[in-house]
Amino acid sequence: MSPARAGWPAYLALHRSGELEGRAARARDRLSQCDLCPRECGVDRLAGELGVCCTGEFARVEGAGPHFGEEAPLVGRGGSGTIFFAGCNLACVFCQNHTISQPCDAPGARPRTEVAGRQAGTPATSAPVETSHPGSLRWEVTAERLAAMMLELQDLGCENVNLVSPSHVVPQILAALVLAAERGLRLPLVYNTGGYDSLETLRLLDGVVDIYMPDMKYADDRVAERLSGIPDYVERNREAVVEMYRQVGDLEIGSGRRGSGGRGAPTWATLPSGSDGRRAARDSVCGVARRGLLVRHLVLPGGLAGTASVARFLADEVSRDTYINVMDQYHPAHQAAGYPEISRVLTSAEHREAVRDALSAGLWRLDGQVDGVTRP
Ligand code: SF4
Repeated sequence: MSPARAGWPAYLALHRSGELEGRAARARDRLSQCDLCPRECGVDRLAGELGVCCTGEFARVEGAGPHFGEEAPLVGRGGSGTIFFAGCNLACVFCQNHTISQPCDAPGARPRTEVAGRQAGTPATSAPVETSHPGSLRWEVTAERLAAMMLELQDLGCENVNLVSPSHVVPQILAALVLAAERGLRLPLVYNTGGYDSLETLRLLDGVVDIYMPDMKYADDRVAERLSGIPDYVERNREAVVEMYRQVGDLEIGSGRRGSGGRGAPTWATLPSGSDGRRAARDSVCGVARRGLLVRHLVLPGGLAGTASVARFLADEVSRDTYINVMDQYHPAHQAAGYPEISRVLTSAEHREAVRDALSAGLWRLDGQVDGVTRP
């Protein structure tokens, strides 16, 4: 079903019916014995206990603002409106943002107590609004404050609200979305996740998220456990991606930015598969993603990311028309120097081989590539 027919952005219909508020309440209930993600820590976040993600009752935001370094269909002309959440449910030893994602490990990076709108219901308008990126706004934020950030991104002309590392703060996002939708938010939501998401939580997002952008990091649980501390990443990740695809389908790319100021009705063009689809892909280089699945796959040295297996899974179990970014930017960060197998940069030959693996599996919508050739 095209987004235009389904209603767009997706959450508006749920908001009008009151269901969005119900989802936010159901999600919040789960914080008292937290099982939001497959870690299932069971801690009472409402009472201040912290699990692996190091996040309590309130989301913490590192920074927010237009970002022009994301995949082209997310950036468009206005940029992707990123909101960077601190904390993460993964613990990747090579994380390039580890001071943000693993703040419990970062000396002096504990949550601030002088938070923005700390008490529920406290007006947060007195808090500064951080619009540069990357910012340094690692404060706990209320739903009011988070909603204000979403609306500001819209006013800045961003193409979407890009929720970076959202898996552990879904209740807080939903609560903010209720307020933001009420006040005129009309941008699609991008759920930009490491890909370790629980099905139950994703179902709360059915009809809420327009664009899912999960990582598919590994195809071997032994590698996932060693490098990200997750013993069951592959199964959880694959079932999550299937659920995401069930909800939103293949990535649909519109013919460009909406009217000025980021508001107005979009025009739509759903990319067909086959040679017509390839032509459409070429034509839509400057188009903007409106709905669907966009997979990120970071190629690791020595084939550790299991590209061939990931690509086969997507082509055979999800869709050959899956839009995928086979990323080449791996470099040893954080603790990677202590892991000999990933203590070096990726070679261009390794990345080329990964792209060949993706194409051989039958995938053809590769970000930055047309018919297997890297765009200049
Ligand atoms: S969201 Fe955080 S506290 Fe909850 S289960 Fe996941 S890692 Fe644990």
